[in-house]
Amino acid sequence: MECPSSPVYQTSVEQKRQAQSAAKRRHLGMPKLREMLRDKCRIRIMDARKNNIDSNRTLQLAELKELLRLELIEFDHDLELEMHILEELLSDVNEWYALGEQSLETLYVEPDASATEQIVLCPVCQMKPLSKFKSSSYICECGIKFEHSADLKRLEQLLQKQITTHEMNCTQALCFFIEPSTNALYTMCGTCDYFSSV
Ligand SMILES: [Zn+2]
Ligand SMILES: [Zn+2]
Repeated sequence: MECPSSPVYQTSVEQKRQAQSAAKRRHLGMPKLREMLRDKCRIRIMDARKNNIDSNRTLQLAELKELLRLELIEFDHDLELEMHILEELLSDVNEWYALGEQSLETLYVEPDASATEQIVLCPVCQMKPLSKFKSSSYICECGIKFEHSADLKRLEQLLQKQITTHEMNCTQALCFFIEPSTNALYTMCGTCDYFSSV
């Protein structure tokens, strides 16, 4: 029978236990701790940004380290674990800054982007703008809804094409309507015999 107090055996069990404990901490405890700290840091940085005091990043990183130290007191932590979390958090913080600057740039170009965004008037009421609803439906505040696979830009082209084609032979205005059984958009003229789906 093997002696349980054999030094080799003891060391092996102890090493195994330590390894298991470390693995458990890393796989179970650490992500949870990391998430919690990440949330706290994110809130801090967002608050700082709101108050326009984010110019001094060094100060914030010092605060972050202090926050981390305080949080880790509640845990059965070791130095290696602490350093590992700190490195990850600092990397996250730098990423948030990069993202923050990126979104600032996005904000800056946003007016141009919205200026090119199209507004297409509802062809039925000709008063309110059309809105895309789900992937292939359009709705208007006037209450109409129709199915069309084209995007807004293409739909406007198709509507204009109908008007242009009809104008070549008739001076009256086209009337657009929804065919109830298919929810498809059609156009017709009350004067000539023009009739077409859009
Ligand atoms: Zn409408
Ligand atoms: Zn006509």
